[in-house]
Amino acid sequence: MADTQSSPGTAPLIVRRQDYRPPDWLVPEITLDFSLDPVCTQVRSILTVRRNGEHDRPLKLDGDDLTPLEVKVDGQALTADQWSMEGGALIVPLSGAAHQVETLVELAPENNSKLMGLYASGGLLCTQCEAEGFRRITFFPDRPDVLSRYSVRLEADRARYPILLANGDPIEQGSLPEGRHWALWTDPFPKPCYLFALVAGDLACNADSFVTMSGRTVKLGIWVKEADLPKTAHAMQALKNSMAWDERVYGREYDLDVFNIVAVADFNFGAMENKGLNIFNSRYILADPDTATDIDYDGVEGVVAHEYFHNWSGNRVTCRDWFQLSLKEGFTVFRDQDFSADMGSAAVKRIEDVRVLRAAQFQEDSGPLAHPVRPESYMEISNFYTATIYNKGAELIRMMALMLGRDRFRAGADLYFERHDGQAATCEDFVRAMEEGGGIELAQFRRWYEQAGTPRVRALLTHDAASQTAELVLEQTVPPTPGQPDKQPMAIPLRISLFDRESGTSRGDELLMLTEARQSFLFSKFAAPPLLSINRGFSAPVVIETDRTQADLAFLSAHDDDPFARYEAMQQLMVNVLVGRVGGQAVDDAAVVAAIRNTATDPSLDDAFIAEAIRLPSEAYIGDQLTEVDPDAIHAARESLQHRIGAELEPLWRDIHARTQANSFSLSAAAKGARKLRNTALLYLCASGIEEGAIVAFSQFSAADNMTERQAALAILANGSSAEREAALDIFYNRYRDDALTLDKWFQTQAFAFHPDTVDLVEELGRHPDFTLSNPNRIRSLYGAFAGNQWAFHHRSGKGYRLVADCIIALDKINPQTAARLVPPLGRWRRFGEARAGLMRAELQRILAQPGLSRDVTEQASKSLD
Ligand code: ZN
Repeated sequence: MADTQSSPGTAPLIVRRQDYRPPDWLVPEITLDFSLDPVCTQVRSILTVRRNGEHDRPLKLDGDDLTPLEVKVDGQALTADQWSMEGGALIVPLSGAAHQVETLVELAPENNSKLMGLYASGGLLCTQCEAEGFRRITFFPDRPDVLSRYSVRLEADRARYPILLANGDPIEQGSLPEGRHWALWTDPFPKPCYLFALVAGDLACNADSFVTMSGRTVKLGIWVKEADLPKTAHAMQALKNSMAWDERVYGREYDLDVFNIVAVADFNFGAMENKGLNIFNSRYILADPDTATDIDYDGVEGVVAHEYFHNWSGNRVTCRDWFQLSLKEGFTVFRDQDFSADMGSAAVKRIEDVRVLRAAQFQEDSGPLAHPVRPESYMEISNFYTATIYNKGAELIRMMALMLGRDRFRAGADLYFERHDGQAATCEDFVRAMEEGGGIELAQFRRWYEQAGTPRVRALLTHDAASQTAELVLEQTVPPTPGQPDKQPMAIPLRISLFDRESGTSRGDELLMLTEARQSFLFSKFAAPPLLSINRGFSAPVVIETDRTQADLAFLSAHDDDPFARYEAMQQLMVNVLVGRVGGQAVDDAAVVAAIRNTATDPSLDDAFIAEAIRLPSEAYIGDQLTEVDPDAIHAARESLQHRIGAELEPLWRDIHARTQANSFSLSAAAKGARKLRNTALLYLCASGIEEGAIVAFSQFSAADNMTERQAALAILANGSSAEREAALDIFYNRYRDDALTLDKWFQTQAFAFHPDTVDLVEELGRHPDFTLSNPNRIRSLYGAFAGNQWAFHHRSGKGYRLVADCIIALDKINPQTAARLVPPLGRWRRFGEARAGLMRAELQRILAQPGLSRDVTEQASKSLD
């Protein structure tokens, strides 16, 4: 990439993994003193610094937007010529092996719209430091391999900020003159500065406790606005379940006497694992049946678990540098997925996780922003909190766990935690611990960390009647990705099974290791040609191509004993029809309709699985199967198949819709499954074209005692143009206008709608008085959702592209991190035909031409054009 933005004195534009060097100075201790105030906060910090190795380089303390008001070394104030500034950093030449360095800065949290560092949100003061936000609070070597013991004193107005929280354990508190008060916190565990946090505000606490496996009692607190307390029960239960689960499954116990969680309204991501003081986007804490869907409830459970699990995979063992981000994120996503699978239906959880992986990560892997799980370089690290680092990273751990088996994987994890406790480690350290602790050789497997792109595996099964053998030939290719034109073969673990077509049974599961570009496997004693079930459980994050017929897939959709493979057979059946039709072929859909009927009436299947299996693949997923995406043709084909399924099976949808009606609300797996299936039935019933469709949907909308059914009905109505559509949207708005998280659903539902006017509606909603660029959830609800609505976003006028680009440009001045996350949909221009590609590129160019564009958006937009 061109060095366009570099100017003298700024940090290098591109950071490279190969350039890693250990820190020049270590900081074993830090004392922080905050005098908190939204307009002017003073931060005094005293660092104990120690020279690391033999060198004479000065101490360099990162800073972003900070001005040193005082600099002292060993208690002596320095004069202005004894320190200097370099690209925001403070440079202090030091003579000895160890010193005390003290600085004073002032911050204006109220004006901090980037939501990085210390900022104000809904009357609270809170912090976000990962990845490089601590340098916006005080001068410090802001890199994860500098670990320090923290002692933090907070001082603030007692009336406005009665609660003062920081990492670790509360030590002491007291009153001060003029209505102020203070609190002292210390954290005994050395940590990198990205895990620092503080919160001050008027908060209420859901207080509970947990007794650890060694018998210690931990005080748990979930801190929210008083009015939100009733919505914290699910998060608290999830926290206690997570603590017990990590003890049972990984032998990992919590290590402090308190564990606090705070919910804030304005947050760039989902949540943050600060040591002993997790800070959450409120959407992943607050839930009650009236406002949260079942998906929201599961999101709360999963994210609470994720952040809790980071206490070991991330905090006790942290990352050496940000290229190792997947070391903590991939492993922790794997752990939270596994936990959620244990809490509910493992089969359905796996299907959901694969759906997310394909929607987000496969798209990323096939576009201009594709990068390895362990990247080689970046311009702005905030842009690397990606589906590849998180979700593909989790798949890598899952493959290792599969190859090792449960006990050996646990032995590898034990060795990893034991060997690296208290250290800043690398992905390589993790793999080596798995090799040594688990007893496996992973030389070739390491390529999964190095090579970007989703491998494609072609599987051909042939049969020889004379020798009664079946031969499976597997061929793999890894597509070229930016900077990686040529790829080596991967080590791909594939779970397979061969089915007898007569009896519908198989000989059981086998794990094949595909390690060559082309490999053949022989199976004896097959009198008749068997049927292949492959990548069962989605054992590897790859695309499988087979020559199985619609009849074969229908057979597997009825008989495969692996739930994921059974789901996959259904999806493939549907994809074949849809892709064929988009390509102008007249493909028969009878097999699809029959398979759906068969699945929906199979008494051995639970409701949640049925709902997953019978739903049509998304428009984006259909697009991913094609070399050139025609959003209008895809939309038309999918709508018409949905209509056919609705109309052909109308009585079935009526039956299911009636059968799944509950008398009272419950969060049991069965009740959640019933709601999921009920909503799917309503969708097909309305798609069938029956005259009273809108009335049925409106009555579900009105009668529902829970958000899962209410929002699904609203979404179905929003796709149409009935009077009920307007009525339901108005009712919803008036009911929830003062509840930001729920009002987000009102924006999101309209942005997601399959309605010919969605693009105009989104433009209008962008001017709605309740729309604001200052809240990331609101932006994601409108523009994020819209950019994920393939048909509407890719409106042939190009208006959708312009809307999103306008939002990026405006938002970049306020919150570059969140602005940058809206860029990737525009970067997919290569896949959309010349006319659309031209319009998309023009918007990317317009974005790049903005003066003063952030590094965040510059990186994403320029890579997207390359
Ligand atoms: Zn994480």
